[in-house]
Amino acid sequence: MKKVVKFGGSSLASADQFRKVGKIIREDESRRYVVPSAPGKRFSSDTKVTDMLYQCYEAAAGEKAYKPMLEKIQARYDEIIQGLGLNLSLKDEFDKISEMFTNKAGSEYAASRGEYLNGIVMANYLGFEFVDAATVIFFNEDGSLNGEKTNEMLRERLKATEYAVIPGFYGALEDGTVKTFSRGGSDITGSLVAKAITADLYENWTDVPGFLVADPRIINNPEVIETITYRELRELSYMGASVLHEDAIFPVRKEGIPINIRNTNAPEQKGTMIVESTCRSPKFTITGIAGKKGFASINIDKAMMNSEIGFGRKVLGVFEDNGISFEHMPSGIDTMTIFVHQAEFVDKEQQVIAGIHRAVQPDVVELESDLALVAVVGRGMRATRGTAGRIFSALAHARVNVKMIDQGSSELNIIVGVKNADFETAIRAIYDIFVTAQL
Ligand code: ASP
Repeated sequence: MKKVVKFGGSSLASADQFRKVGKIIREDESRRYVVPSAPGKRFSSDTKVTDMLYQCYEAAAGEKAYKPMLEKIQARYDEIIQGLGLNLSLKDEFDKISEMFTNKAGSEYAASRGEYLNGIVMANYLGFEFVDAATVIFFNEDGSLNGEKTNEMLRERLKATEYAVIPGFYGALEDGTVKTFSRGGSDITGSLVAKAITADLYENWTDVPGFLVADPRIINNPEVIETITYRELRELSYMGASVLHEDAIFPVRKEGIPINIRNTNAPEQKGTMIVESTCRSPKFTITGIAGKKGFASINIDKAMMNSEIGFGRKVLGVFEDNGISFEHMPSGIDTMTIFVHQAEFVDKEQQVIAGIHRAVQPDVVELESDLALVAVVGRGMRATRGTAGRIFSALAHARVNVKMIDQGSSELNIIVGVKNADFETAIRAIYDIFVTAQL
């Protein structure tokens, strides 16, 4: 059994957190490849080391005093090293970093040092080998990941290494220049390592109990999803539920490697398993609810629209020409509605309206703003009759007016459009009927 274990920043923010992580790793000898993030927040008003590094480098690049900030960063690591009683000094590393800052090595190099240094500390603490991510993770000149080379290099390098620490978040270009993923990218590193060594499991340790059925800012203490499929996860993540970096799914999904989201602060809990497919029926009819505010709809009316071949294409062409992507497109016999992100659309609304007039000569074009979309997602809905009915009766009871309904043909999700102001009420009503009522 081989497991890749990735630990997020808050799991590694202090010596105490490191100890919890050490215990988790030592408890199971199949936890062989460790991917750490940079130290995160120790308390809510604290600053993540990654953010300190960006700020520090900005000062260096602007030729302002940056050393005091760099010393503060060094103090964060020293506190961990001393707290763990390690015989390790990062002085040479910090001298090198300081020199690179003076030479304007770039903000990505700067940010990557958070993971790099934490990897050194972690390897020392665990007695594992340190593998610099810049030697095994590769990017193309255009900034995209060079997946093939990365996979090969990681596989080769780790073949001979039974226990290793590979820092998250960064890699290098062909010429060795350090490059980072987007924020939260250590999740991707973990996924790439899991793929390269064909891990049995990718454990992603964080500070939440798992993937939650609904947003805890809206629902008090929501249930944890025990098992979720990659497709369900994609639907929910797209709608704003976030635990994992979106790009972390693809490498492991292709290999059929499950991801287990776990809580470093409660390792006895099972967390959430993310799998390709499962026979396990979900605990509730729905797997999760997520949503987003800030949509606008463009309603187009035209008599006899139904018989006009190419109508939809011409309308969508207007959006394409204006560089606007659309979210949903419910239609009736003589009506068609396009949902777009309001922020993307406002500046171009008049061009779009004019474009639609020119393209299809509609009778009326109407705009509606401040809409929200709520996605109710669940593989269990396919086998259950009446799910849609229950959603709509719950919304009606909560006095929420439904503006749009869209059920994907996969029957994996039902999306409803409501007013922004009704967003939270809608989510609570749906959660109550499917989850609270069934506990
Ligand atoms: N430390 C980086 C960040 O704060 C990457 C990560 O934690 O995954 O975004």
